Amino acid sequence: MVLDTVTLRVALGVVTLTLFVLFYSSFRRTRSRYSGWWSVALLFFLTGNLALLLNGTPHQAWANPAGNVLLVTGAFSVWAGSRSLRLLGTPRWLFAAGPAFTAVASLLDSPGSDTWSGGLAYLGMMTVGIALASRELWLLKPGASQVHRTIAVAAGFMAAYYCCRWVVYLVDGPLGPVFRTYFNPAMTSLITLVLLVSVSYSMTALSNEQLINGLSERATRDGLTGLLNRSAFMELASEEVRRVHAKGSVAALILADLDHFKTLNDVHGHSAGDAAIKAFASACLASVRSTDFVARYGGEEFVILLPGANLESAKTIAAAISRRLTDTKAEPVLPTVSYGVALSTGSEADLAGMISEADAALYKAKAQGRNRVVCAGSPSQ
Ligand code: GH3
Ligand code: MG
Ligand code: MG
Repeated sequence: MVLDTVTLRVALGVVTLTLFVLFYSSFRRTRSRYSGWWSVALLFFLTGNLALLLNGTPHQAWANPAGNVLLVTGAFSVWAGSRSLRLLGTPRWLFAAGPAFTAVASLLDSPGSDTWSGGLAYLGMMTVGIALASRELWLLKPGASQVHRTIAVAAGFMAAYYCCRWVVYLVDGPLGPVFRTYFNPAMTSLITLVLLVSVSYSMTALSNEQLINGLSERATRDGLTGLLNRSAFMELASEEVRRVHAKGSVAALILADLDHFKTLNDVHGHSAGDAAIKAFASACLASVRSTDFVARYGGEEFVILLPGANLESAKTIAAAISRRLTDTKAEPVLPTVSYGVALSTGSEADLAGMISEADAALYKAKAQGRNRVVCAGSPSQ
């Protein structure tokens, strides 16, 4: 069976154009950087292949080097896109180095008469660009799924194929039997076609996954402080209280409320109030362990669950939070804070019960003059 280069290049062009249209519309919707880079890469692959269709025509002298450069730029765009997934930028000169090298090598050869003008540089730079992309994707921190690993393997396979092409080209030449059988442009177009479709499919899966992760993050976090929101806290903390109770251990719960916060807002403005809320959230996070749960309960109220802590250690932590807040020099005005503390020593694991006990203790702290810690069950003054 003889594969026809022109037919396969046209088929590859049509598929690439379709993928580009689909990805570009997704990029316009999501504005995700790697979706954008993938669209750019598809556009370079498309125009590069179109340019190579002019081989054998009077335009070959400029179209052949242009095709090489466009395809290499496509490979480097895939690399830049993979880096954007890791939130890394790509220096312009590094991005341009591969295509520039290919341009010089292709033009200095004999592009008018030889369709493989600058072939060694072209194959080498394709290998480098795709291999770098594969490396970046492999280094991406594993999230909920392994989609990026699939893309890394596909890119790795493509890089290995181009590396073999490069070696065989070097040893055998473009007219040698091995190169013409396994590494000819028609075979390459066929493999590229399969990989472009499978990588695009995985890219869509990755895009959806990131969208879902972003949405669930937004659904569980408070927008101002980044702490857990109330509903996420209730879900996570009740599970934790149940777990602690099953182990025969205890947990302490702190309810905190900023003092005279309305006055702070009225006198210094809402943005000063927001800054104070954020400073308090930071003081909380800096004072607890990573296994504790801190949430914005609502307005200027916060709730903290300390698994394994008793009343004394909860009181110490509350005092530490207030001390840290007082030490925060950056904010112009910071309020004092009142705390109510409750323990989960009851016969049943009951988060709602702990919260209402802590709330009663907090009420006492306010009544006793604010800026203090009161434990549930302690006598009223
Ligand atoms: P107390 O010492 O008794 O707790 O008095 P307080 O003024 O702190 O309590 P009150 O419940 O009267 O007022 C709470 C204020 O918190 C009212 C509300 O406008 C303000 N607030 C709630 N959420 C936010 C927010 O996100 N940002 C700002 N700046 N203010 C908020
Ligand atoms: Mg309040
Ligand atoms: Mg208050």
